Amino acid sequence: MTGIDDLPIRDELRGQSPYGAPQLDVPVRLNTNENPHPLPEPLVARIAERVAEAARELNRYPDRDAVELRTGLARYLTRTTGYEVGTENVWAANGSNEVLQQLLQAFGGPGRTAIGFEPSYSMHALIARGTGTGWISGPRHDDFRLDVDAARAVIAERRPHVVFVCSPNNPTGTAVDADTVLALYEAAQAARPSLVIVDEAYGEFSHRPSLLPLIDGRPHLVVSRTMSKAFGAAGLRLGYLAAHPAVVDAVQLVRLPYHLSAVTQATALAALEHTDTLLGYVEQLKTERDRLVAELRAMGCEVTESDANFVQFGRFDGPGGARAVWQALLDRGVLVRDNGVPGRLRVTAGTPAENDAFLDAMRAVLKEND
Ligand code: PMP
Repeated sequence: MTGIDDLPIRDELRGQSPYGAPQLDVPVRLNTNENPHPLPEPLVARIAERVAEAARELNRYPDRDAVELRTGLARYLTRTTGYEVGTENVWAANGSNEVLQQLLQAFGGPGRTAIGFEPSYSMHALIARGTGTGWISGPRHDDFRLDVDAARAVIAERRPHVVFVCSPNNPTGTAVDADTVLALYEAAQAARPSLVIVDEAYGEFSHRPSLLPLIDGRPHLVVSRTMSKAFGAAGLRLGYLAAHPAVVDAVQLVRLPYHLSAVTQATALAALEHTDTLLGYVEQLKTERDRLVAELRAMGCEVTESDANFVQFGRFDGPGGARAVWQALLDRGVLVRDNGVPGRLRVTAGTPAENDAFLDAMRAVLKEND
């Protein structure tokens, strides 16, 4: 039988497996950092209206530059961060994964390197590989905070073309402050200069203000965002970035023409009209996230400080490690994520009932292992 490796595939893809969490049909799914709230019915109705309008013109290609949508996103960012962002600062694509891919196509590529501080979002390394960009795995402190001195040293030594700073970081939940980003930005500019990408996919859930205002006067700094988490629209596939207009011009050199369908643009615009309701859900999720942290700590778990809509917890150093606890939770109908961080698991904040089910299952598992 012909397998992948029998194909004339690129050498660096041989023996690799695709990214993806198991999509198991269990009662409580807290494994992919999705928002547990379905979109509110008035928004569903508005999407239907706007998509119907778009459908009348589906014989035509969509607005290639997505100007109306980028203007709406710029307004949203200005309103929520207090930093004035214009249409020319914003670019949108099919999920922030595509935004990151376009950035690496434009600023990485063969003969170039990108660095991330791991454990972090594993797609950064995978998108690097897919775009022929070399990957450098940078360090973190043992408690998963970014180690600024070590990061500066490795940037100076390896001189990467692209630096990823994921804040809040997936899977650890840890966030960085503006001074940390500035320190890395300065190190990256002294070394090359290189492009610094702040991945703020979970920005709205943070206790800290957005790092977005740092793009001011820093044309090599990009902040990427998504509607998958805070807007509860993972199925929509809409990510975006804010940066100097020159960066927006640069990604247009590599984007496929008409990459963002008219249906996607119409749906995202409808979602933006309901920002207040959706941000209300974010507030509830932040409260639930803080409750998960507190209750897991009360059970004796070691819990990493979280600024995201998920929580990293452990330590499971017993027989079978984190994998055994993951399986024991699954046996009780609760799916969490094993990201391969030794002794740790990650749980996404769900509805209060889902979180209760998870906490009950955890108590039972810990009692059993006692
Ligand atoms: N960045 C981070 C840190 C993420 O965790 C994710 C999704 N899990 C993404 C980017 C990509 O999200 P999307 O493509 O849905 O916008």
